[in-house]
Amino acid sequence: MLKKLTERIYYMPHSKETDRPVLGLICGDKYSLVVDAGNSPAHAKEFMEAVSKLDIAPVKYLAITHWHWDHVFGIETMKLITLCHIKTRERLDYMQKLSWDDKALEERVRSGEEIEFCSEMIKKELPDRDGFKLGNADISFDEKIEVDLGGTTCIIVNIGGSHSEDSSAIYVPEDQVMFLGDSISPDLYSGERSYYIDKVISMTNKIKKYDTKTYLSSHDEPESSESLLEFLDELERIGGFAGEKAKFDNVIDEFVKIYGKEPNEDELFYIKTFINGNINKS
Ligand SMILES: [Zn+2]
Repeated sequence: MLKKLTERIYYMPHSKETDRPVLGLICGDKYSLVVDAGNSPAHAKEFMEAVSKLDIAPVKYLAITHWHWDHVFGIETMKLITLCHIKTRERLDYMQKLSWDDKALEERVRSGEEIEFCSEMIKKELPDRDGFKLGNADISFDEKIEVDLGGTTCIIVNIGGSHSEDSSAIYVPEDQVMFLGDSISPDLYSGERSYYIDKVISMTNKIKKYDTKTYLSSHDEPESSESLLEFLDELERIGGFAGEKAKFDNVIDEFVKIYGKEPNEDELFYIKTFINGNINKS
């Protein structure tokens, strides 16, 4: 099912069942561009079939937000000209050498390379992985790349963040829409969920350079700029407060001293997540 966001932008909503992310479609006068490849050949096929029913310019490009499995497993099925950051490409090069059978997945979970949750979701989304082939990029960029679709521009820009350093946003200036991938989420691959204040600040500064009305994160509903910028400000506030500290109790004591109240549930979660980041760094 595709939803229309603006005159030229559509998206297929995320689904929690097998952790399918949002897939996007940006339509120009000459060409159209897809955002992210989906978490399996079936996901990619479902999306492309829905897209084929629209009266739009030919779908030519695929922009990848970052290397995680749920965003790239459909690359081979989509058969488009695939664009991604150079570090995403390097990860895809590496992932192409891996086996994706149960045994290999379980081995990587044991060694800490793969997350249990992702392994379970891969098994659920793709029970039969015989013959599964991971695609790769055709064009990679360092800082950013602009694609002119005819009357509509896609600026694909590396914004980094805690989640994955290769994270790229796809910004459409004409419609003031930005696809964020998972960039505003914490790091999930270093044990406990972790935010890093320096990475959060650098990412937020890059996001704020572009005048945006609507943001799409991969595992969420579309969000207004007021709501997203408020979240990022809150994240920076808590991250700045946690600073370089690595002891949870000290941070809570200081929070109570300064704010005259106990942190609420959200504040507590973010404090913990920034402290995890500080522990990872030290
Ligand atoms: Zn991710």
